[in-house]
Amino acid sequence: MSGLGLESWRVRSVPGVAELYAAERLDDPTRRLEFIDALDPGVPRAEKWVIMVSTQYGCCVGCAMCDAAERRFRGNVSAADILEQVRRVLAAHPELDPRTVKKLKLHFARMGEPTFNAGVLEALETLARGGALPGLLPSVSTVAPDCPTSAEFLQRLRAVKDRWFGGGRFQLQFSVHTTDPAARRALIPIRSWSLERMGEFARAWRRPDDRLVTLNAVSAPGLPFDADVLAAAFDPAHCLVKLTPVHPTRRAARNALVDDWNEPPAAVRARALALERKGFKVIINAPWPEETAGGVSCGQVASSAEVAVSAG
Ligand code: SF4
Repeated sequence: MSGLGLESWRVRSVPGVAELYAAERLDDPTRRLEFIDALDPGVPRAEKWVIMVSTQYGCCVGCAMCDAAERRFRGNVSAADILEQVRRVLAAHPELDPRTVKKLKLHFARMGEPTFNAGVLEALETLARGGALPGLLPSVSTVAPDCPTSAEFLQRLRAVKDRWFGGGRFQLQFSVHTTDPAARRALIPIRSWSLERMGEFARAWRRPDDRLVTLNAVSAPGLPFDADVLAAAFDPAHCLVKLTPVHPTRRAARNALVDDWNEPPAAVRARALALERKGFKVIINAPWPEETAGGVSCGQVASSAEVAVSAG
């Protein structure tokens, strides 16, 4: 139990890949979140450590392939409780001094759309000011909601990045997924930025020594994707593309979106080639079989029945 109002517990382990945690607010157990302690298989945590945190209890977006929306949306996670997720993971490894970890990737990519929560900015600034994690590399993934709150968040995020996380120590990711606006709206059922607006923002976001902005694209069956359309909106000088499968979450299965692979199928390889011809760097994010089997996708931990059993 923490003094900050979250009670957390380890739900399950995926050996060599991840430790999966859930937590509930002590004053309101309906507010449940999940967070992950992950590593690249075969790479020691001292070299690269990945912590994924939730920014909302549930998610108010409700993407068609994500189980975060399986739980009722219960609001934003406070900055203190975002930091508590980090503290809980670090505390699980007393043998490691976090100050010596070369790359500590803090990924705001579990439950919740981070741009709806100014607590994310507060948590980032608190960590940066504290200076206790020199290897810190934050990563924010967003569907780019089309609303003033998210637009202001992203402007403020850019200032935080420029002030504290220069030299390629920050990653911004847009969940693009498809180049067809209607298909994107069906997949991500809120009003969101057009590809062109995301592309403009990516151009304005990047300083010369910043990382490329990541454009995430899942390979769900039937989801249109046109490298020409992507290249018209995004500049390969500022963006790379990451191609990923769709794991068999409950919602993905219900919506016939599952495309689960560990070796990229021919269609994914062809998409990568088309994008490379347009000048994009492409990462094919092939998960380890243990990841798929372990149910590590967003929302799967907090929404699983196993959590209720573990919570006792
Ligand atoms: S993918 Fe992200 S924005 Fe979409 S429902 Fe899941 S947590 Fe929310």
